[in-house]
Amino acid sequence: MVGLRSSVRPAREDYTSDRLSHQLSDVEYVESFEHPRIAEALQGARYVRISREPEIWVYIGRNEDHVLVPRLYCSCLDFLVNVVGRRRGSPCYHLVGLELARRSGRTRDLSKKLGEKAPTIVLEVLTRGFSGALRRLVARGQS
Ligand SMILES: [Zn+2]
Repeated sequence: MVGLRSSVRPAREDYTSDRLSHQLSDVEYVESFEHPRIAEALQGARYVRISREPEIWVYIGRNEDHVLVPRLYCSCLDFLVNVVGRRRGSPCYHLVGLELARRSGRTRDLSKKLGEKAPTIVLEVLTRGFSGALRRLVARGQS
């Protein structure tokens, strides 16, 4: 009954979000993080802030988008399965990329423009895998 025992273990003992927050606040950790897709993640301002309070970002990927809360959460499958589920000791590359993108200013801020529409964008990403509305807005901003 390993599963049952681990599920009743006190949450503070190895609480994933504490470790994540610590790692992602560590500049050295973030800058030395290696992942085959990290360079791609930093190309073309894929990180869009859609809300300031609470702070919510969307990563616009090649095929799908992800909702991110800095140093805490990403809606990708790797985060769900490996970081939360298997308690892997390292975050997904989207969360690391967000830290790097913020440090280098390679981000977009649509939080003011979106205003009350931010929850709709989040819902769209979580239910459909991407936000058509956000992608249209970003494309318009580029032209
Ligand atoms: Zn992720």
